[in-house]
Amino acid sequence: MNKPKRRLVTIGTGSGLAVRGKGGPCHLVECDDTPLLLDCGEGAAGGLCALGMFDRLNRMFITHLHPDHVSGLFTLIQGMLIIGRRKPLEIFMPEEGIEPFRAMLKTVYLASKPHMVGDFEVNFIPLANGVVPNLNRGEMSVRAWPSDHFINDSVRGIEQRDAFGFSIESGGVRLVYTGDVSTTGCFEGELARGATLLCEAMHIDWDEVIQLARKHSLRQVIFTHVHPDRGPELEGFCEAREDVIAAVDGMKVAW
Ligand SMILES: [Zn+2]
Ligand SMILES: [Zn+2]
Repeated sequence: MNKPKRRLVTIGTGSGLAVRGKGGPCHLVECDDTPLLLDCGEGAAGGLCALGMFDRLNRMFITHLHPDHVSGLFTLIQGMLIIGRRKPLEIFMPEEGIEPFRAMLKTVYLASKPHMVGDFEVNFIPLANGVVPNLNRGEMSVRAWPSDHFINDSVRGIEQRDAFGFSIESGGVRLVYTGDVSTTGCFEGELARGATLLCEAMHIDWDEVIQLARKHSLRQVIFTHVHPDRGPELEGFCEAREDVIAAVDGMKVAW
């Protein structure tokens, strides 16, 4: 039996501070011919169109509702409408986003009736901790785990805010995507020998991440989501280390 082909495409590697030429957080994970999307930042539609994904992508997972992680959603759905997509699209996201996003699809004239955009269904599904059930198609399983991104930060008048990270598994091989976090503590338990870690670089200590990568014998660390002022510093940091990569938009990596 052939080994499955596992690929990650870092479509958007920017952060909450937009810069020209870098998209918001958006990553395509593929195992053989099954793709899924992790976050959907600004520029997602262009990146996915170039990869021929408007009709192939059936599932996306949103870590949390900060604009950099969701702002590409509407242009992506608009593109899918324009090409005449018919297959349903599933969007897994924190529950508090579902009703507002559904309403926005109507507001921006994409949804003609609830759940329908043109000829395709858009189904929002609330994330919960644990393995996402009923993902039987394809070779990948997805597990959502709680991120501590919002732990140090409160916004008056907003009670419920959830953030998740995701562990994707295929044939015993794992890819861990942190989304945004406050500490390494929330994802250390996900790290396993041979895993690929796709790690945000804005809110945590890079050296600490590398120590964990060595401790858990990871295959590689890919840093993304860095503050633009620290971009060159991150490139130098990664160049000096084996199996540590500073992601750029459109990069393709095996995992
Ligand atoms: Zn972010
Ligand atoms: Zn965030």
